[in-house]
Amino acid sequence: MILPGATIGMLGGGQLGRMFTMAARSMGYRVVVLDPDPASPAGSLANQHICARYTDAEALAQMASLCEVVTTEFENIPAEALRQLATKTTVYPSADAVEKTQNRIREKRFIRDTGLKTAEFAVIESPSDIDTLASSGFHFPAIMKIAEFGYDGKGQVVVHSIDETREAFATLEQAPCVLEQRVDLALEVSVVLARAVDGTVSCFPVAENEHRNGILHRSVVPAVATAPMQTAAQEQAIQLAEALDYCGVMAVEFFIDQAGELLVNEIAPRTHNSGHYSLDACVTSQFEQQLRAICGLPLGATTLLSPVVMVNLLGDLWQDHDPDWASLLADPAVKLHLYGKAEPRPGRKMGHFCWLGEDAARLRDQAEQAFQALA
Ligand code: ATP
Ligand code: MG
Repeated sequence: MILPGATIGMLGGGQLGRMFTMAARSMGYRVVVLDPDPASPAGSLANQHICARYTDAEALAQMASLCEVVTTEFENIPAEALRQLATKTTVYPSADAVEKTQNRIREKRFIRDTGLKTAEFAVIESPSDIDTLASSGFHFPAIMKIAEFGYDGKGQVVVHSIDETREAFATLEQAPCVLEQRVDLALEVSVVLARAVDGTVSCFPVAENEHRNGILHRSVVPAVATAPMQTAAQEQAIQLAEALDYCGVMAVEFFIDQAGELLVNEIAPRTHNSGHYSLDACVTSQFEQQLRAICGLPLGATTLLSPVVMVNLLGDLWQDHDPDWASLLADPAVKLHLYGKAEPRPGRKMGHFCWLGEDAARLRDQAEQAFQALA
C-alpha cells in the first residue's frame, strides 16, 4: 500500500487533475503534476508542477524519480510516455489500456471483441471507402468523427447522405475517421467505476447524462433508466474494465436507443465529468477512489447520500459579465466548484455545481432554473 505522505504523479493538469490533487492532498499525500500549460488548473494546487510536454523524456524521468505511482486525467497522453514512465515507477492505468481507448476505431473493435454492442459504424480511411459505403446499405443520418483527439463533440459532423459524407470527410482533414450511425436516443447514461490492483471492482451509481451541442450539460442521479438497465450498464462496464485488466478509475458512456437497447459509446480511462456528482453526493468521490485504487488502498464506499443534479458551467456564461454567483449560492443545497481557469472561452468547462435534495425530478427543474438565472 502507498500510504499518506507518499508522492503521487498526475499526468495532465486540467480540472480532473485538480480535483484529484485536492482529494489526495487532503488525505496527506503529495502531488506532482506534469502539464505543459504554466497556468494549468491542477499545477497551482500541486506540491510541484513540472511544466513540460508529455513526451519530454527528462521531465518524465524526473516525475518517475519523485513519484511512487503515476496516474492520468487525460486520455490523449501518448501511450509511449506511459510506457517510458512504467520502466521506472508504477503507472496506473497501463499504457496498453489507455492506448486501446485513444483511438475510436481501436476502441470500438475492442468493445465488440468483448461481446458488447456499439452503434453501427464504418471506418473511413479514404474517399474510396465512402464509395463502398454507398453500395453497402449504410443508414443515415450518421456522424463522422475523427478517430483521435476528439473531445466535447469536437471533430464531429452530422451527415445525411453520401454526398454530405464526402464533404464532411474533406472538411475534417483528418484520416482515418469513423462514420457512426446516429442512434435515436431515448437516454444516455454512464458508469464510473474503480478497479483495484487485486481486481476488486466498485461502481458508482449510474448517471443519466444530457448533452447540449455535444457537451455534457447535466447529470442526474439516480437515473430514470430502469433498475435492470442500470445493472446491465454496470455489468458491461465491469466487463470492459476486466478485459482491459484495468487499474484505476474509468468511465463508460452508453446510449440507450428507442428500442431499449444498450450500446457502448466510449470508454474514458480516467475520472469523468459525469462522475463529478460523487464529490458532493457520495461517501467517496471518484477522485478519492482513483487515489485509493492506484495506491492499493481498499476502495471506498460509493453509496449515494442524496439525489443530485450536476450542471456544467461553460465559458459561454461569462460572455457579458461574470455569472450571478450570489443568486446561485442563495440556495443552501448548492455546491459550487470552479476550476481556476483564467480565460472563459465558449464551450470551455469552467466549473460545475451540484444541487442536492430529496426528489430527483424536482431537482432537475430547480437546478435548471438556477442555471438559467446565472446568465
Ligand atoms: P467526450 O469525450 O467529451 O464525451 P466526444 O467528443 O468523445 O466527447 P462523443 O461521446 O462521441 O464525443 O459524442 C458526444 C455526444 O454527442 C454524445 O454524448 C451524444 O449525445 C452525441 N452523439 C455522439 N455520437 C452519437 C451517435 N452515434 N448517435 C447519437 N448521438 C450521438
Ligand atoms: Mg463522449
